[in-house]
Amino acid sequence: MYKIAKERLPELYAAISAGKNLYLPVEDAGQCLFEKWSPESKVCIDCLKTVKSAKELFFPQSENLISFKISGKNIDLVEDRDPAEPFVIFGVRACDAKSFTILDSVFLSDPVDTFYKSRREMGVIVTLACSEPEETCFCGTFGIDAANPAGGDVTTWIAGSLLYWKPETEKGEALTKLLGGILEETSAKDEKALETQKENIRAILAKLPLADLSVDYFSGERLTEGLNDVFYAPQWQELYKACIACGTCTFICPTCQCYDIRDFDTGHGIKRFRCWDSCMYSDFTKMAHGNPRTSQLERFRQRFMHKLVYYPANNDGEYSCVGCGRCLSKCPVSMNIVKVIKSFGGESK
Ligand code: SF4
Ligand code: SF4
Repeated sequence: MYKIAKERLPELYAAISAGKNLYLPVEDAGQCLFEKWSPESKVCIDCLKTVKSAKELFFPQSENLISFKISGKNIDLVEDRDPAEPFVIFGVRACDAKSFTILDSVFLSDPVDTFYKSRREMGVIVTLACSEPEETCFCGTFGIDAANPAGGDVTTWIAGSLLYWKPETEKGEALTKLLGGILEETSAKDEKALETQKENIRAILAKLPLADLSVDYFSGERLTEGLNDVFYAPQWQELYKACIACGTCTFICPTCQCYDIRDFDTGHGIKRFRCWDSCMYSDFTKMAHGNPRTSQLERFRQRFMHKLVYYPANNDGEYSCVGCGRCLSKCPVSMNIVKVIKSFGGESK
């Protein structure tokens, strides 16, 4: 394991970005977002939750798929996808890191999404433990340990005036080699200080207001033969009413992965692109023959049935929520997945 003084982090960022594009939490117009680093960037490495999650680096909000050039009766296909370049994403919290396994199960299953796959191959993930988890966090409900994030190529922790750096994979080792002159090896005393830091984080997590939130209701037979008990539960009749179908919750969510594919007439040809979509929108399921979800109740229910019932039913009981809490702070009418879980009795373990 290695360490670097926090005050020397700009040197670390510069060294990483000398070899690859570096993305990390940056303050932009008063918001904290994953953006490409430059020496002028206002890095906010202590920001716990970027407005949009880290998924955008692998699954962009909008991207070109292909273009068509039309001349007379001929249509030529033009491959103009944005080429994936090697990059490092630094400061990924445990919840966002876990979201990549959920996105992988969707995009890397047959048929593989080659756009997503090439970014996953090019990306090096540097996670960062959460020194100060907030009251909207409930990653522990899904077995995520914010004190020791899993799934990264490198794991980092900030404790006191130091950042600890632990390579976890071949990609992480290769990146660490490039930074040889900047990182220092840790001592036994450092390792002890890090263990204390992890204990401190876990003590904070245990005291959070949502520490006891449980999704046990959404398990066992309710994921199979008893699924209709959840689908037709009276709770939906009240829960959906607050929702104004803005779609904010789906765009900020690290695990939401629905998209639309559209054609745009540039005047010289057609550009086919894909962009994030939202199951909360009335035209989300609109098809040539009609729309199977014509009410907001159905659309609202779909979002949470997918996260808490359909996805775990098809993925060995793994839920499609990582407890990041973004939807708790960003929904304009304070509706969120925690309210849904609690309405099904999820408050006590
Ligand atoms: S953010 Fe809130 S109001 Fe907007 S779609 Fe989601 S639940 Fe509905
Ligand atoms: S549903 Fe809400 S808490 Fe769960 S992963 Fe999505 S934004 Fe985070």
